[in-house]
Amino acid sequence: MRAIEIPQDLALTLRRATRVVVLTGAGISAESGVPTFRDAQTGLWAKFDPRELATPSAFARNPRLVWDWYASRREALAGIVPNPGHVALARMDALVHDFLLATQNVDGLHERAGSRRLVELHGNIARVKCSREHRVVAKWETPGGDLPPPCPHCGALLRPDVVWFEEMLPEDALARAERAARRAEVMLVVGTSAEVWPAAALPRHAKAAGARLVEVNPEATPLSEVADDVLRARAGIALPALVAAAWPDAPHAAPAV
Ligand code: NAD
Repeated sequence: MRAIEIPQDLALTLRRATRVVVLTGAGISAESGVPTFRDAQTGLWAKFDPRELATPSAFARNPRLVWDWYASRREALAGIVPNPGHVALARMDALVHDFLLATQNVDGLHERAGSRRLVELHGNIARVKCSREHRVVAKWETPGGDLPPPCPHCGALLRPDVVWFEEMLPEDALARAERAARRAEVMLVVGTSAEVWPAAALPRHAKAAGARLVEVNPEATPLSEVADDVLRARAGIALPALVAAAWPDAPHAAPAV
């Protein structure tokens, strides 16, 4: 494991900050083994482009195909656990007075790591909702084995409770993240290509309002040029190092995951 140097003034700014917001993307879960959309898909799904499966038009065209793809992604998540990057952010949640973690991930790993002040901007793959009324459904039946199953309330097809390309983000989740970004003293942007809007606008709002913008990503992104600090390392290395540097005297026990 390669160590990373945390600038002392960054550690100090973070320690003193009372308002911190974090935006995460698929990169933070890569070390847990969840593939990013940029990684090639494997097996049966290799020939499909996720950006063509995760759309309302794909679901309208072939609901079974989309349902099966999400079922396979859910299965792939079954053996996966949060990594030290997720755990470090859960620790930060416990250490900062006014904190919000906004994630574009749908894998539920932040919550499992112990993050509490969390908005899931793109939904959660574990949940299912009605494709007509958007009501979350906990239990359903599959009469005749048909998939996707019908909504038990209205009979429309059920679909994953995630935000697809071409769809709007949940208004309340986005508004909460925007409010936090505009008043943050420090904003961390972790493992996102910062290209999917409107989430990609959040760091720009924070920067415009005077926040110190910190990027954690092994690769350059369009945000790298505007960030005040760039930690060119994997989240699982950089985030624990950042938390340890900012709060050296805090207990280091990791929350149970
Ligand atoms: P992305 O695939 O566009 O970008 C991933 C970024 O993570 C890249 O910039 C990459 O350099 C960086 N990265 C890779 N490994 C990393 C590591 N170990 N530590 C830190 N950074 C690392 O992902 P995105 O920006 O989140 O946007 C794509 C969309 O894909 C989002 O809407 C998201 O909902 C969806 N998605 C989610 C998941 C998930 O829930 N885990 C997985 C795939 C895609």
